[in-house]
Amino acid sequence: SATRRPLVAGNWKMNGFKGAIAEFRAVVAAVAGGGAGHAEVLVCPPATLLAAFAAEPRGAVGVGAQDCHANPSGAHTGDLSAEMLKDAGASAIIVGHSERRADHAETDAVVHAKAVAVRRAGLTAIVCVGETRAEREAGHTLDVVGRQLAGSVPDGATAANTVVAYEPVWAIGTGLTPTPADVAEVHAMIRDRLVARFGAEGQGIRILYGGSVKPDNAAELMAVAEVDGALVGGASLKATDFMAIAGVY
Ligand code: PEP
Repeated sequence: SATRRPLVAGNWKMNGFKGAIAEFRAVVAAVAGGGAGHAEVLVCPPATLLAAFAAEPRGAVGVGAQDCHANPSGAHTGDLSAEMLKDAGASAIIVGHSERRADHAETDAVVHAKAVAVRRAGLTAIVCVGETRAEREAGHTLDVVGRQLAGSVPDGATAANTVVAYEPVWAIGTGLTPTPADVAEVHAMIRDRLVARFGAEGQGIRILYGGSVKPDNAAELMAVAEVDGALVGGASLKATDFMAIAGVY
């Protein structure tokens, strides 16, 4: 919609050493040159690189994190709080990515608690939802995504503190994508639920599509109704590919 600024977010996952700052700098340069049009651009590197990226002269390019703990501090060895990630320079944190849900058995309740933590820190939660292949084949996509949405997004969500990412699990890292009609169906359901629950704020919450977004399919996917941008995994690791996607805006 004209009132929602598109967001193109890159999720680097567990990839990248110090030298990868060159790719980040290339993104910053491309955005400075107008390469993302009117879209907002966010890069979520591994936490080890977050502070270094944040310290770069980066114009309007945001840096984000890929996960956080629900608590602000304490005896949680190896974890990072939303407040710590904010301190390192993050403006947004991905929560409930399917790889977290699968690798760490994160439930909707856990994701909900993390989204509350992100808001407590004053950052934007990018809340991920999406069905598995088996769930889609069984015809349960809308039920599953609706349940994840209801369980993962806290009360009081606003356009500023919440972004929803629809990421079909079977499309992540596989090169497979839903048809535009399938994306439209899920995004329309998500929009309806957000508006029913949050009113006008629900109208402003951005809904990203994620799952094998590439330069070749970005224009078609980003043109779907209620798609307000992309969450990009593999293709975000190369600045040229990432910016070719952002360049659809
Ligand atoms: C993701 O990890 O959020 C993602 C969408 O990955 P990919 O683009 O590689 O499918």
